[in-house]
Amino acid sequence: MERLPPFALRRPASVAAAAAWLAEAGARPLAGGTDLLPNLRRGLGRPTTLVELGGIAGFDAIERGAGGIEIGAGVTLAAIAADAGFSDVGAAVAEAARAVAAPAHRNAATLGGNLCQDTRCVFYNQSEWWRAANRWCLKYGGTTCHVAPQGSHCHAAYSGDMAPALIALDAEVALVSARGTRRLPLADLYRDDGAAHLALEPGELLASVQLPRPPPGARSGYRKARVRGALDYPLAGVAIALVMDGQRIGAIAVAMTGLNPLPLRLEGTQALVGRTVDADLLGELGKLVAKQARPMRTTATPSNHRRQVAAVLAGRLLRELANPASGAAAPCAAGRS
Ligand code: FAD
Ligand code: SF4
Repeated sequence: MERLPPFALRRPASVAAAAAWLAEAGARPLAGGTDLLPNLRRGLGRPTTLVELGGIAGFDAIERGAGGIEIGAGVTLAAIAADAGFSDVGAAVAEAARAVAAPAHRNAATLGGNLCQDTRCVFYNQSEWWRAANRWCLKYGGTTCHVAPQGSHCHAAYSGDMAPALIALDAEVALVSARGTRRLPLADLYRDDGAAHLALEPGELLASVQLPRPPPGARSGYRKARVRGALDYPLAGVAIALVMDGQRIGAIAVAMTGLNPLPLRLEGTQALVGRTVDADLLGELGKLVAKQARPMRTTATPSNHRRQVAAVLAGRLLRELANPASGAAAPCAAGRS
């Protein structure tokens, strides 16, 4: 990796001051830096100003109220992973936080940075000289996508662990800019375009995440497969939020990561409601996952393998959540493949 490029560093003390700095052309937020700084050292981006968010008062607060939990964008993943209070609102959130990278990363990495992290591709996450030798690519500096050279679409995969867990639990985000504040479902923060996957407007900052109180009896979980169990991005990750009505599914939401340019909320799960979790139903869930997962040749692992792994993870996790006492979880420990 190369040296960091030159930039001005600002350290605002409030969200409003951060938004004012971010309104300037070429400014970018810097949180824990675990995604942004390695990318800048690879020559991916040349911001003129980095707005460091670590000094914002209250940005790292977790507040619990009658309606649910509000999590500041500056809360570290280590803090979420260690917070016992997430077991009643959504175990998937704590499991996803525990599954991100390694302990040193989680101590610095923030929720906002995780949700806004860049997409990944074997032709993109490379040094400047490597990319130059390959004439760069469509996403940054070049004109051709090496994954799908005939098209003009970037297929780089969104690989954050937190987004699927929060999307399955119907989280919303608050976005702040010099123009004001808006709220939207977290799922709507993402676009199906690996080169421009965030729907953030210029100068906009993710300020907090709102997690609604789940219905009584709700359960959730997150499972991921990765090459190195101790530290790695998901080759595929699946989160499920489930409410059982006796032996039948009362409500279910499934979201996935590591496969498409955006974290995907699975469509068609309404057809599973009212049914028991048997082999037929698990087969149908697997088909839904395999149909909507669209992994491309963006990692060293074959695309079809990632699609099949996602289907298997979803089936195992649903069986486990539906029968928590059965020990069905055994083949698939939290956060591991
Ligand atoms: P930063 O690096 O500071 O920022 C990331 C991006 O988000 C930047 O573009 C920045 O401008 C933007 N940003 C930051 N905060 C905000 C905000 N509040 N509003 C708007 N934009 C913002 N991630 C995983 O999910 N799973 C993994 O398994 C994983 N493994 C990793 C392994 C290694 C070796 C490394 C180096 C990274 C890994 N990551 C992984 C990526 C990274 O560590 C996480 O995504 C981390 O949560 C990023 O948070 P951060 O605070 O460090 O973000
Ligand atoms: Fe570049 Fe194509 Fe990879 Fe996108 S999918 S980063 S355009 S090679």
